[in-house]
Amino acid sequence: MTRTTVDAHQIAANVERLRARVADVAETHGRSPADITVIAVSKTHPREAIDAAWSAGVRDFGESRVQELREKIREPMPDGSRLHLIGQLQTNKVRDALRLVDVVHAVDRERLVDVLAREAERIALRLDVLLQVNIAREAQKGGCTPDDAGEILALIKAHSSLNAAGLMTIAPNVDDPEDTRPTFRALRLLRDRLATPDVPLTMLSMGMSNDFPAAIAEGATHIRVGSAIFGSRG
Ligand SMILES: *Cc1c(COP(=O)(O)O)cnc(C)c1O
Repeated sequence: MTRTTVDAHQIAANVERLRARVADVAETHGRSPADITVIAVSKTHPREAIDAAWSAGVRDFGESRVQELREKIREPMPDGSRLHLIGQLQTNKVRDALRLVDVVHAVDRERLVDVLAREAERIALRLDVLLQVNIAREAQKGGCTPDDAGEILALIKAHSSLNAAGLMTIAPNVDDPEDTRPTFRALRLLRDRLATPDVPLTMLSMGMSNDFPAAIAEGATHIRVGSAIFGSRG
């Protein structure tokens, strides 16, 4: 599944182009580019792709599967990098996941909160987690409903081993990326509603290769970009 040839020059050029675009869109919407972190989603791409993006200055990486990640980081991750687990997480993979990743994006149910909290506590970790919300209520997608978000968030906050860092969503696939804006706006407004002074939920993880400009326009702090950096996943 992973490809063996990696074009480091192409990846560096893609990172450069993406940075320019992020800066451009941010400024258009009166935001500082420094407030937007690109998470390079390296799933299905080999370890060399991660190293190439790191050489181009990327420090945040996203992976979907614990098993794949484990194989990819037999060699420790390059200095200063942060790993974001962005895919659905099964409770039986939590123990492995917490040895490997810095942030878990797809927390969406009470049972997963319980298992994450217990495991994080066992290894004396304060784990950054994001509550994934299925804003558009798409049947095939992960994430809690907006109605359940408050309750699950309260459960996260009840555990000192978890830090509720923010919210995450995946927008519906639409022809015109601008049509994703209501979804991203709804996540931001939900965040504004759920935020408190002690738990400000600063991270808004939203936007991918095709729709990150709309997400930035609506306040994304973290965009998860795969194909625009590493090429298609074949
Ligand atoms: C694969 C994936 C991405 C990146 O998708 P691209 O379209 O390649 O940018 C972002 N977020 C999640 C949750 C993903 O699974």
